[in-house]
Amino acid sequence: MDHFDLIVIGSGPAGRRAAIQAAKFGRDVLVIERGRRVGGVSVHTGTIPSKTLRETALNLTGWRERGFYGRAYRVKKDISAGDLRARLHITLDHEVEVLEHQFARNRVRTLRGEAKFVDAKTIEVLGDAGEVLQYSADRFIIAVGTKPFRPDYVPFDGEYILDSDEILELTELPRTIAVIGAGVIGVEYATIFSALDVKVTLVEPRDTMLDFLDHELVQDFIHELRDRGIALRFGSKVDKITKHGPANCEIELADGRLVRTNVVLFAAGRMGATGSLNLDACGLEVDHRGRLKVDAQTFQTNVEHIFAAGDVIGFPSLASTSMEQGRIAACHALGEQAYDPPEYFPYGIYAVPEISTVGMTEEEVKQRGIPYECGIARFRETSRGHIMGLDSGMLKMIFSLKTRRLLGCHIVGEGATELVHIGQAVLNLRGTLEYFVENTFNYPTLAEAYKIAALDAWNRMPPMEK
Ligand SMILES: Cc1cc2nc3c(=O)[nH]c(=O)nc-3n(C[C@H](O)[C@H](O)[C@H](O)COP(=O)(O)OP(=O)(O)OC[C@H]3O[C@@H](n4cnc5c(N)ncnc54)[C@H](O)[C@@H]3O)c2cc1C
Repeated sequence: MDHFDLIVIGSGPAGRRAAIQAAKFGRDVLVIERGRRVGGVSVHTGTIPSKTLRETALNLTGWRERGFYGRAYRVKKDISAGDLRARLHITLDHEVEVLEHQFARNRVRTLRGEAKFVDAKTIEVLGDAGEVLQYSADRFIIAVGTKPFRPDYVPFDGEYILDSDEILELTELPRTIAVIGAGVIGVEYATIFSALDVKVTLVEPRDTMLDFLDHELVQDFIHELRDRGIALRFGSKVDKITKHGPANCEIELADGRLVRTNVVLFAAGRMGATGSLNLDACGLEVDHRGRLKVDAQTFQTNVEHIFAAGDVIGFPSLASTSMEQGRIAACHALGEQAYDPPEYFPYGIYAVPEISTVGMTEEEVKQRGIPYECGIARFRETSRGHIMGLDSGMLKMIFSLKTRRLLGCHIVGEGATELVHIGQAVLNLRGTLEYFVENTFNYPTLAEAYKIAALDAWNRMPPMEK
């Protein structure tokens, strides 16, 4: 039986960063991946495919040019599911190639198969041809990620009633789609399909959506969705979903309303993919959503030599944060020095339009009793916005009245997920309003919105104490 310093289960963002970090420390590392190719949900069914689909949709529809040429403007008239998929495969192949090269360069051994614990220090790997091999290690990192939540009351058929993995396999673009769940994934797909001129209904049992974001930003976003004709059914629990025939589905809502649609996308939550790990054998337990509990600083589970990182430990469930968690978990697992990540990380939602946010929301600032002032800029106030034909998009910053420090930065609109990093840097470096007021920004850029928003806040702030 081969023995390793570290065995990593899963090759998604958390697993791959953990493995490469361990290899850089000169340790023997084995990564086990049950998928056909390395990369995890991030490369194959989540982050990269959905972002590629979004980019393709925006390019083929000419979405970004419609501010100038009108809502009827199209780059390609009839966009097919094939058009959307073509670019997907090229991008994914490239991502896998980069990853395989990274593993090879760093001498990380990879093995295809499904891992399960035999005892606390041994795992068994079931290969494709039914072969079973055993491996032992001093340390383990569980980075198995999540899979879509598929409740019994949803009659998934892989064709018209789909989860967020299956939606990528659509063979025909529907005329209508109902998305159940207005979380990040649901909202991203709902707005991508709407950009493709598919009639979208977004169903959400709660009264609002994305409530971890700054509420003013969400209101702005909701306004835009309504303006585009997306039907929002908030506060609507799903009673029953029925397929009457091909592309003929019906959703009965608890308030008696009906949604008739070609395709249903069920995107209400994900479950930790821990079911096949036989965790009893190593003394670990999961919660009701299959997730593992870890120490927030070290990512150590309650079994000393087993660590876990990425989506399997829950919030924030992002590829970006999973990578950092994996790297830090590897440092702690191997007794190497690890630095805590900075306090604030950005959250990116690749809806159409994008949303990105870092730091405290206005609601959080209020709740903590911090005296504050906000500054807002609309993208249409910037010259770059005019050039690009943007009629929507806003940037909001929140500053402490006492220290003048930036407390939070919230953006909705074109380029939000890139722009947010300016706010992130100032926030984590404990910068103040003066940074934005006193610095020169490239002109014309959307980043100028930072200066405009800062000046907006400055107008209402008391003068700086000398
Ligand atoms: C539709 C969608 C869009 C997303 N968009 C974004 C985004 O824009 N930005 C962002 O930051 N994040 C995004 N995410 C989230 C991101 O994909 C995840 O946070 C990230 O993939 C989690 O990484 P991970 O390493 O924890 O697990 P995963 O990427 O889920 O990888 C886990 C791997 O473990 C393997 N595995 C599981 N069990 C076993 C076993 N027993 N043996 C061997 N291998 C096993 C799986 O096959 C899988 O390959 C999105 C997710 C989805 C679903």
